[in-house]
Amino acid sequence: MKVRVSNIQRFSLHDGPGIRTTVFLKGCNLRCPWCANPENIDFEKTKFTNKTTKESGFFGQDIELMDLYSEIIKDKLYYKVNNGGVTFSGGEPLLQIKQLEPLLIKLKQEKINICIETALQVPTDFVKIAAKYIDEFIIDIKILDKDECKKVINGNIDLYFKNLDFLSKNDQINIFRIPLIEEYTLKKHNIEKIIDLLNKYKCKKVEIFKIHNLAESKYDSIGKEMIKFSEIESKKIEDVYNKIKALNVNVDIIKL
Ligand code: SF4
Repeated sequence: MKVRVSNIQRFSLHDGPGIRTTVFLKGCNLRCPWCANPENIDFEKTKFTNKTTKESGFFGQDIELMDLYSEIIKDKLYYKVNNGGVTFSGGEPLLQIKQLEPLLIKLKQEKINICIETALQVPTDFVKIAAKYIDEFIIDIKILDKDECKKVINGNIDLYFKNLDFLSKNDQINIFRIPLIEEYTLKKHNIEKIIDLLNKYKCKKVEIFKIHNLAESKYDSIGKEMIKFSEIESKKIEDVYNKIKALNVNVDIIKL
């Protein structure tokens, strides 16, 4: 069995507890205008050309699960520090969960901590498979208005809440991650919906972050134009931080 991977990042520190290997899987069903990993959106292999060196190639390779396992297990000794392990990111890693399942079983047998970064707008059956093995779900909160979510990111907010309900019953909502974007997620009505959501669903931690322009060269290399969003004033970030803190929720401002 193979999965389609675009990158494997060892010694990663921001995608869950401890030292981690982050596996970026190809393919996403959403289309966030602020996406920092545009090379992972299409499931198809994505051609890139480096504008400076003229080097070209493809993002995406099909990797046998056993080869991926060997890559992950290389850092097993480091994982022991602070509960490190492997994180599946993307794209939307849940889209390949059926193919990944045999690997997840093996990682569990080895007692490797497994995290997944997900936008959670996928069929609930996929989430149910993941829930059997995943130690920490890191879940995005993006645009919560139904029509706006559909229009801007091609999302399905009903599915999102259905999946949150499922994970919440299992006490498996671990971390919520919120990208702060003036034009979308920071709109007043969206922030109100985010606060309602955080009131309803218990989590271990909320992480908020500013999006950055560091993906510009990646957009360039795959022939896409990156949309630049407004710089956010620190005061706005503090406001969101304080509103979340006031709910008695553990909140961090992070840099990705
Ligand atoms: S869900 Fe993530 S990978 Fe998919 S388009 Fe949005 S930001 Fe990009």
